[in-house]
Amino acid sequence: MPLSWSISKSTILHYCSKKYYFSSYSNYLKEVDKWIRTQALLAKNLKSIYMRFGEKIHDLMSDYLHLSKDWIDSPEKIDEIKKSFILQMDQEYKISKNKEYANYDPNMKFGLTEHYYGYNIDDIYENGKNKLLESFDKFLNSEINKKIKEYFADKSNIFFIEAKEKDFESMKIQIKNIPELMWVDVYAQPDFWIITNNKEYIIYDRKSGKVPNKSNEEISNQLKIYAYKILQKIGIENINKLNIEGFEIYLKSLDKFGWTISKKDLKDIEQKIISDVAIQKAFLIDQDVEKNQPLKNEHFPRTNDLQKCSNCTFYKVCEELKKFEKTNNIENSNATGSNDEYLEEDFPF
Ligand code: SF4
Repeated sequence: MPLSWSISKSTILHYCSKKYYFSSYSNYLKEVDKWIRTQALLAKNLKSIYMRFGEKIHDLMSDYLHLSKDWIDSPEKIDEIKKSFILQMDQEYKISKNKEYANYDPNMKFGLTEHYYGYNIDDIYENGKNKLLESFDKFLNSEINKKIKEYFADKSNIFFIEAKEKDFESMKIQIKNIPELMWVDVYAQPDFWIITNNKEYIIYDRKSGKVPNKSNEEISNQLKIYAYKILQKIGIENINKLNIEGFEIYLKSLDKFGWTISKKDLKDIEQKIISDVAIQKAFLIDQDVEKNQPLKNEHFPRTNDLQKCSNCTFYKVCEELKKFEKTNNIENSNATGSNDEYLEEDFPF
């Protein structure tokens, strides 16, 4: 598989290079130590409870938008999708809680990070689940939902609603006109977008996390890459003929951030991908993006920000690797300084 870039990969890359190694190249640890490799694979497939909440509310919203688009969103149907949401969440939670985390089972990868580390999160789970349902009900009665229903009412509008199951092929963008990105797979998929009959593109990105402290008109990198993806299909030069608007909707508070996406926003995201890919390439043997083989793990420095480590899924395996390095006198590249990039799922409520 060639080198790939996505917003989440970029966030991990800037969070900690070692975490980037664990999440992208853990298989290569077999050359170091088989047990450490299986622990890394185990950790890589875990989700924090907050990350799982985010994924599940996305699924519920996707179910709801499909009903709403087809005008079959009766109270009974909404009740049905809510019940199925609770049932699935409870089943998954039980599986995670009862799971043996000693070994990696490729047929049963799912588990919650907190259970892996032995925390009791029953109260967090119950409260979080109820909060998600409250947010969903709030959304149903919101002005934003009313507006979306108006779009659905116009049969000449076109809609895209992300499916619950990820389709990685459809997420892929190939950027052939930029030499640095020629062989890199860029992944992005908006949750929901609308093309109106006036050639307006409206992108909605649903957020389940903590509401950020930023200006209402700020365009996130995620919205920029979604707009970039749309324009890749119809030609970036066409941006002046279109109106592309992007909004992040925070389900917890229904705060809305975003506005019209400009040519500068698209250039900004293009530059960000180019600069991230340059960092990613520096971690590869011969900087070969097609082969995408990493340098040895000791070339991926650890962060020296302990707060990041205390929130990291890979903490346990990272410590095991440290012990292994000490025993075998292996030196790591210098630790990197703190920066302000945190993963949304780390501090969502
Ligand atoms: S525990 Fe700390 S140093 Fe290790 S991968 Fe995680 S963030 Fe990086």
